[in-house]
Amino acid sequence: MQTIRTAKAMMAWSSAHHREGVTIGIVPTMGALHAGHRALIRAARLSCDAVVVSLFVNPAQFGPKEDFSRYPRKLKADTALCAKEGVDVLFAPPVGEIYPDGFQTTVSTVKLAHRWEGERRPGHFDGVATVVTKLLTLVRPTAAFFGQKDFQQAVLVKRLVEDLNLGARVIVSPTVREADGLALSSRNVFLTPGQRRAATVLFQALKAGRAAIRAGGRSGANIQQVMRKTLVAEPLASLDYLAVCDPDTLEPLAQIRDRAVLLGAIRIGEIRLIDNLLVTC
Ligand code: AMP
Repeated sequence: MQTIRTAKAMMAWSSAHHREGVTIGIVPTMGALHAGHRALIRAARLSCDAVVVSLFVNPAQFGPKEDFSRYPRKLKADTALCAKEGVDVLFAPPVGEIYPDGFQTTVSTVKLAHRWEGERRPGHFDGVATVVTKLLTLVRPTAAFFGQKDFQQAVLVKRLVEDLNLGARVIVSPTVREADGLALSSRNVFLTPGQRRAATVLFQALKAGRAAIRAGGRSGANIQQVMRKTLVAEPLASLDYLAVCDPDTLEPLAQIRDRAVLLGAIRIGEIRLIDNLLVTC
């Protein structure tokens, strides 16, 4: 496995591989890799000739009061995991390679960037859209792999790739969970044992919503109420939002027809957790 640190070397690598007709898969990450990331890497490994994992804690997607400086950084362990999974390139640029002096261009996904996560985290999705555009331009992958865990991000990236003709297939892999249902996240390490136990309430709430839909419930407001009831029973968790949405537009659904995505975000202490479930009727 090769580690690449500069934009120039990354472009040279992808040009050389494009000339040979190699299919390239990219898995964009912020590092502190876990089994969720590993599943994306394996999906890329199965369907592409060459796999690039990018590892970049992107300052542009963190708000001024968010945890950029505290975000876990584990380059050594991440490098070992990637090597073990047969990754060809670990692209781990310093911030100045992605945002050199004078950088001032932002990619904005107008509607999607201002809903749900975007509403609570102003600027977050412009940061995501900008860095994903840069990564896909540097690597020019055949396919880009994202996790369903960040559902809104995946929807936004699909829109971005289509709108800007970035030319990659966007593949979304299912959320990897702990045995008790908690979605794996690099931020879970910050949870105390008590908070960790409480954190499962988000998945429980989403599951209660799913069960209500499966039992015939179709009113968005009623399903939201069912989820809310489960959530407020956990004193350590505070509700940010629970929503019943159209999986393509992420607009709230008054009535569920054939498909819905249940989106949720909670806060436990200082830690913000998100999760979702896709439900087909
Ligand atoms: P991150 O490093 O948190 O920015 O995540 C990098 C990629 O891994 C994103 O596409 C995430 O959606 C995905 N991801 C994170 N956690 C999980 C998980 N538990 N299951 C599946 N994919 C995940």
